[in-house]
Amino acid sequence: MTPLLTLNDAALDAIAKATEVGQFLWQREWAERNGGNLSIDLTDVLPSLPTSTATVQRVAKLPLAAAGHCYFMKGSGERMRDLVRPDQAGCIIRIDDQAQGYQVLWGGRGREDYKPTSELLSHIKLLLDARQRGSSDRCVVHTHPHELIMLSHHPLLGKDATAFNLACWKMLPEVRAFVPRGVRLVPYLRSGSVALSDATVTALQTADVAMWEKHGAVAMGTDALAAFDLIDVANKGARLYLGCLASGFEPDGLSDAQLLDLQTAFSLPSASF
Ligand SMILES: [Zn+2]
Repeated sequence: MTPLLTLNDAALDAIAKATEVGQFLWQREWAERNGGNLSIDLTDVLPSLPTSTATVQRVAKLPLAAAGHCYFMKGSGERMRDLVRPDQAGCIIRIDDQAQGYQVLWGGRGREDYKPTSELLSHIKLLLDARQRGSSDRCVVHTHPHELIMLSHHPLLGKDATAFNLACWKMLPEVRAFVPRGVRLVPYLRSGSVALSDATVTALQTADVAMWEKHGAVAMGTDALAAFDLIDVANKGARLYLGCLASGFEPDGLSDAQLLDLQTAFSLPSASF
């Protein structure tokens, strides 16, 4: 199959950022084997798509609102680090007009039966929800950040969103400032389940990061770098906190007054979990 689609600069730029993030995740050891996934809604930047005669790959329960939409996705079973070759480790798909399935228009190792991420349905739900909310977020990143995962195993903090967020925020002003809506804890649910994808959609309506208990993090951004930054900064707070515990002391952290001062000075949303 020859590529049906010629990518414009905006699409190339969005995919280049995904490649960059794939390298970051691998270097941080947050993307072992084929761990994690990444999707970009390219519908706005690729408005005129070619007609394809490729077989529509059927997918059950696709939302009708996704009909005609176009996404770059990491491939199922592909490695994040291999996104340096995005046409091999990823693909661009178009959802057909009846939302019964998709056609591969670009990448996918040139195969029309190439499979995008197994999280296709949940990523599409997240990306549609962002549009419906009027958000400019067009990218979803899921990865396995060590310290956030460790903190989600904490017998108390892993069950208490207020304490979890305070532990991260109090370690560094930038964590409060750049993860302003905080982390929403999603109790353990099986990967790929409808319950998990629905809980993630709800979580990201009001938080910057959805933290899947004992599994990993999901964030959205205008592009892959913005989504990555949210997880990276949140994880920094968790890492500093756990580093203090590992050194044998409970950190003082920023005081309530100092956190309130940051909130006021930078017009940050108040904590509500
Ligand atoms: Zn995962």
